[in-house]
Amino acid sequence: MTLAERARRIDLLAAAAETVEGCRRCAIGATRTHSVYGEGDPCADLMLVGEGPGETEDRLGRPFVGRAGQLLERMLAAIGLAREDVYICNTVKCRPTQSGPSGPRNRAPDPSEMANCRSYLDAQIATVRPRAILALGAPAAKTFLGADFAISRMRGRWYEGPLGIALMATFHPAYVLRQTGGEMTAVKRLVWADLKAVRAKLDEPPPQRESTPEQAALFPS
Ligand code: SF4
Repeated sequence: MTLAERARRIDLLAAAAETVEGCRRCAIGATRTHSVYGEGDPCADLMLVGEGPGETEDRLGRPFVGRAGQLLERMLAAIGLAREDVYICNTVKCRPTQSGPSGPRNRAPDPSEMANCRSYLDAQIATVRPRAILALGAPAAKTFLGADFAISRMRGRWYEGPLGIALMATFHPAYVLRQTGGEMTAVKRLVWADLKAVRAKLDEPPPQRESTPEQAALFPS
């Protein structure tokens, strides 16, 4: 990856983040504190896609920075990756909320919000062009693989994602944290199996790039 290409991607992502900051396509665009566009290595081999920002993310404008984010970082470290090595974002860039007794509460993004926000996600994927995408949780998996995707049965397998990129779904770290006792151990085991599969995918040799016509003429096979 050349420095110029890295700089081009940084510029593209920064411009898109600015567009998102002004976006009001959905009602949650007006109720959020900060938009949460995404962050990480613009040339990452792995992109993580969660469902949407929660309270801490909304306050800080960064994805996965609460307790779930800390668990995510430990999960990444277990396969030899630092947070800075990957690109992290969500299906929607504004915090979806519903009213609760003590103020707004998190909720899953609704289909219209995910549809409205999809072009921003697609542009991120097209810019970063990771080798693999890991969808975290059922809403993120469904955005790529359809409403019938059942995470308990269908996680841990490779699918063809956007732009032909290998895509797997696993449980969201927040879901892992909500489990207790033996249930938590069982879910953690499944997530660990999925992460090992991601590590193996990233360790595969990169696909050979097609020769340009000039290269083919110089070095005929
Ligand atoms: S969720 Fe996405 S599409 Fe909706 S207002 Fe926020 S940035 Fe815009």
